[in-house]
Amino acid sequence: MKLYNTLTRKIEKFVPYNEEEVKMYTCGPTVYHYAHIGNLRTYIFEDILEKSLEYIGYNVKRVMNITDVGHLTGDGDTGEDKMLKGAARENKTVWEIAEYYTEAFFNDADKLNIRKPLIIEKASDLIEDYIKMIEKLLEDGYAYISNNNVYFDISKIDNYYDLSGKNSEDLIIGAREDVSLDEFKRNPYDFGLWFTVSKFENQAMQWDSPWGRGYPGWHIECSGIAIKHLGEHLDIHCGGVDNIFPHHTNEIAQSEAYLGHEWCKYWLHAEHLNEAAGKMSKSKGEFLTVYLLQEKGYNPLAYRFFCLQSHYRNQLAFSYESLDVAANSYNKLLNRVNQLKNEANGDIDSEQVERYQELFKSGLNNDLNTSTALTILYDVLKDKTLNNNTKLYLIADFDSVLSLDLLKEKEIEISEELLMYIKETITKRNAAKQNKDYVLADKLREELKDKGIIIKDSREGTTYEIVR
Ligand code: AMP
Ligand code: ZN
Repeated sequence: MKLYNTLTRKIEKFVPYNEEEVKMYTCGPTVYHYAHIGNLRTYIFEDILEKSLEYIGYNVKRVMNITDVGHLTGDGDTGEDKMLKGAARENKTVWEIAEYYTEAFFNDADKLNIRKPLIIEKASDLIEDYIKMIEKLLEDGYAYISNNNVYFDISKIDNYYDLSGKNSEDLIIGAREDVSLDEFKRNPYDFGLWFTVSKFENQAMQWDSPWGRGYPGWHIECSGIAIKHLGEHLDIHCGGVDNIFPHHTNEIAQSEAYLGHEWCKYWLHAEHLNEAAGKMSKSKGEFLTVYLLQEKGYNPLAYRFFCLQSHYRNQLAFSYESLDVAANSYNKLLNRVNQLKNEANGDIDSEQVERYQELFKSGLNNDLNTSTALTILYDVLKDKTLNNNTKLYLIADFDSVLSLDLLKEKEIEISEELLMYIKETITKRNAAKQNKDYVLADKLREELKDKGIIIKDSREGTTYEIVR
């Protein structure tokens, strides 16, 4: 498999540290609000990556954190605590907020067929581990205490700028605002490992530590959780591009200082989903959630399909128009597969299966090119030399990675909005038929069919069936 490594800025052949098991870490959600569909694009990419690795034969051990403490609104250790902000917004405790939005995150992920990573660790559950790491970093001279907080001293390492590709000048210009707020740091980009109340007196989550009551910085959580569960050598670490700096940059600095050797070889980052107004963000008032899409009558998997059509390293522009196009194609795809199921025939042709599996793999192996993988799926559907059982076998096989429920019989939840739409369209079509406007009547029937709704006329009236 070849993957683009942010660290080297090259497409590289993937070679795990230990062939027996790929160790993969993905940064989890900050649970102060619902995930927006941009966040979920990143998790869809990570899900596809994990499943692709399995498809080509690896065992994968994947770990993800839940950020329930330490993430501030400014990544440079400034601003408000995101969890406190959520608690104040909803008049709840930070713990209630964390629990509620963690569950909401996994519900949304489930609707998008994003598999739960093998190990999920709440950041607030490993405080002792972070304290031990910070103690060692202090002992070894990588960290210092200032105003009762513990900071990592970035001047003690010489590869701090490797991941972001920036130089210290760029960074200073880029975040002067953040930097000026903390006069207790030695270097502007030093970052907090442990904060005591001297920095944020209203912090709700607090623990005792050798440096006073307080809480860990955001970055140390991911290093602590990854090292605890995946050991000293990590193969893949992922997140969205906004994680490159400072979060992943700081993770590398502290983990390698702590371990005394290179930590993670492959750093993979998904590009953002943008709206017409710019980058999608949770702080922008109303934002797009899976729930909102469902309310508008979309199947969440149509959004997954929409994401898979583009490459994870390209920015993706969201609009309802483009989601509609994807939803239509997705429904058509489901209809075609359904038809095959109704006309299953023939023995599975293992030679053809192997040939198509190789093509599918080569799409995935090419830096996870999901749109090529989808093209191979369409090629299978189109191939007149394949019998239907061979096609169905391949569809099931590809769907172990794509996870679009191509063959799954599913109870369909119908939203009020969709129900209204179906009824109105049937009424319009009946009126068109009465007016002998058969062109319009057929057009309306096709419109419904594209959405996976098949209508039947009988003496009792018009009935409909939702095939997806
Ligand atoms: P957060 O919950 O803010 O910690 O973010 C969860 C994940 O979503 C991180 O991996 C981010 O890098 C990623 N992310 C944030 N914004 C976007 C976006 N607009 N598009 C895609 N991924 C994003
Ligand atoms: Zn992280």
